[in-house]
Amino acid sequence: MTERTFSIIKPDATRRNLTGKVNAVIEDAGLRIVAQRRIKMSKAQAEKFYEVHKERPFFGELVEFMTSAPVVVQVLEGDNAVARYREVMGATNPAQAAEGTIRKLYAESVGENSVHGSDSLDNAKIEIAQFFTEADIVG
Ligand code: ADP
Ligand code: MG
Repeated sequence: MTERTFSIIKPDATRRNLTGKVNAVIEDAGLRIVAQRRIKMSKAQAEKFYEVHKERPFFGELVEFMTSAPVVVQVLEGDNAVARYREVMGATNPAQAAEGTIRKLYAESVGENSVHGSDSLDNAKIEIAQFFTEADIVG
């Protein structure tokens, strides 16, 4: 089934000029980038985006990191896009990520791990709506 998922190229990756390299992995995996914008996330945006993690010990560090440099927010479209992108991203901790995944190739640590991808279709819809309107998405 064709789905849309939400992606963020995180500050550790934009800082190292890896936007194009990350996008190449995404596109080579058969996912289509149907919306994309480079933004500086506000503290309020980052706190809202990662609200589910607010009780976790790394929450403050995560918000600090996500607002430390520009990010690229994206909508990806393709067959089983949610699960497919999670596969392409690799495990949260790059030390555990499979060969060829974005996190294995580029991530620096479990916190500074280069990309975000939605973990369910419901969350994808919520996350896309936080950053894009339907008119921004050209499939
Ligand atoms: P994922 O991004 O793979 O879905 P989680 O939803 O568990 O991972 O965590 C959200 C983000 O929080 C991670 O991508 C990472 O940036 C950060 N994070 C997760 N675990 C840790 C940790 N133990 N220490 C620091 N940051 C973490
Ligand atoms: Mg997650």
